[in-house]
Amino acid sequence: MSRDKIIIHDESYLWCNGCEQYKHVTCFAHKIDGPHGYNSRCKKCRKEYNDRHKEQIKVYQTQYDIDSKDSKKEYYYVRFEQKRFDYMQTSAYNKAVKLGVKVEFVNYREIFERDGLTCYLCEQYIDPNDISFDHVIPFSKGGNHTKSNIKICHLSCNKLKGSDILWEG
Ligand SMILES: [Zn+2]
Ligand SMILES: [Zn+2]
Repeated sequence: MSRDKIIIHDESYLWCNGCEQYKHVTCFAHKIDGPHGYNSRCKKCRKEYNDRHKEQIKVYQTQYDIDSKDSKKEYYYVRFEQKRFDYMQTSAYNKAVKLGVKVEFVNYREIFERDGLTCYLCEQYIDPNDISFDHVIPFSKGGNHTKSNIKICHLSCNKLKGSDILWEG
C-alpha cells in the first residue's frame, strides 16, 4: 500500500498534504483522478487553501471561461462535422446549378466561421442542432449561390422565411 493510505480496523485513512497527517477518509472530498479517488488535501485544508487563494482562483476561473469559449466552438465543429455541412452545401449547390443561377463554390464551414452561432434573421443564439444556411436573397428573387448571399440561421427561422416566399410565389 502506498504511504498515503492506511487501513485500521477496515477503516481507511488518507494522508493530507495540507496538515500533513493521516485523517479518516470521510474528511476528504471525492476526486476521480486524485490519489485513491480523493483530494490530496482534507476538506478543512482545501477550504483554507481556497480562502487564501481566492483572488488567484477567481482570475483562473475567468481565464478558464474565456479559454473554454474557443474550445466550445471547436467542439461544435467536431460535432456537426464536415459531413452535415457538406451535405447542405452540395444540395444547395446542385439546386442552384439546376436553376441556372450564378454559382460559386461555397464552403459552408467558412460561412459558419464567419457568422458564428448567431442567426441573421432573429439575431439569437443558435443551438448547434438547429443550424441552417439560407440564401439571403432567394433564387426566385434573383439571388445567387455565392458566399456573400449565404448566411447562417435557425432551421426554424429558415422555414418561416421559406413559407413567406411560397406565399408570394
Ligand atoms: Zn488537512
Ligand atoms: Zn433565428
